[in-house]
Amino acid sequence: MPRDTTVFIDLAAIGDNIATLKGSLDACQFMAVVKADAYGHGAVAVAQYVEPMVDAFAVAFTEEAIELRTAGIRKPILILEGPHSPDDLVTAEEQDLWPALHSQYQIDWCVAHRSALPHVWIKIDTGMHRLGLDPQQLAAIAQSLVDKGCQKLTLMSHLASAEFPDSALTSQQLSLWRDALAEWPHEVSLCNSAGSRLGLARDDNWARVGYAMYGGLIKDMADNASLKPAMRFETAVLAVRQVKTGESVGYGGQWTAQRDSVIATLPVGYGDGYPWLAPNGTPVNINGVVAPLVGRVSMDMLTVDVTDCGTVAVGTRAVLWGDDPAIDAVAEVCGTIGYELMTRITGRAPRCYEK
Ligand SMILES: *Cc1c(COP(=O)(O)O)cnc(C)c1O
Repeated sequence: MPRDTTVFIDLAAIGDNIATLKGSLDACQFMAVVKADAYGHGAVAVAQYVEPMVDAFAVAFTEEAIELRTAGIRKPILILEGPHSPDDLVTAEEQDLWPALHSQYQIDWCVAHRSALPHVWIKIDTGMHRLGLDPQQLAAIAQSLVDKGCQKLTLMSHLASAEFPDSALTSQQLSLWRDALAEWPHEVSLCNSAGSRLGLARDDNWARVGYAMYGGLIKDMADNASLKPAMRFETAVLAVRQVKTGESVGYGGQWTAQRDSVIATLPVGYGDGYPWLAPNGTPVNINGVVAPLVGRVSMDMLTVDVTDCGTVAVGTRAVLWGDDPAIDAVAEVCGTIGYELMTRITGRAPRCYEK
């Protein structure tokens, strides 16, 4: 008998989310970001399912793109980190990949490459200060690529605080971005999920959407309900016991029962990607009722106070995240973000696809 712990992936939810997100993008094309194994959802399965609905894909580096090409994905793939070596440009040419060039050394490789890549992206730094070329140099860089024979150029940048469109940081970035656009005759792309959902991508040619496609939310945003979580991390109760007032549960005895309690043990732990940092009170859905995690998360197990959950027995279904609790709610009490929880799913629990 296999353990019940499973990561269910609802591909139809991803499809619905794409349709919803496209609704607010006007003519802007949809680039599905499937880096990090599609944020833990399985890059090949997700890309195969969504390929007819999207205009292109994005991954972080070349190996991730090769995985998709090997699986038969034909739409363009943007390499967000660009080439890591001149060889990556050979691969880009052979596999029809779009490199995003963020540093002068990559421009130099591109200019020295045996042929002109037909479509390259140029990334400028408007204030994230992680990757990107100096906007002041943009005109000269673009000219060197045009002289080389590159026919299509897309300008990109990345917002550091897109979920706060009115913040000083975003305003500053938008202002630098608009200055760059004033002199730029080609395609442009600024926004990730948050920027797209907040309407900043409307005038762009491409929206680069990852998190929202998987149903990840922006805190307190009004239309969060229009997105559906694609990942449901589910298991079933492995054991049930009574503990008396004053008895503790788990490693270090760091939770003590304040009343006689019923404790359910679930066969899932940090070895599966559930966060070790989850504090007492982290929500877990037991048979439809949200109950508090109690005690330290172990490698293979965690414990939940099910005293108020009615009848709980071995085999009762438990959801770590999905509809309720949402992954963002679990992440918040754990002091992390839903992105991390999605991508740290370890692969130990099988993935099961639903359409
Ligand atoms: C990962 C990434 C995205 C997608 O971000 P989401 O918030 O998941 O939509 C977009 N652009 C760049 C440059 C990225 O690295």
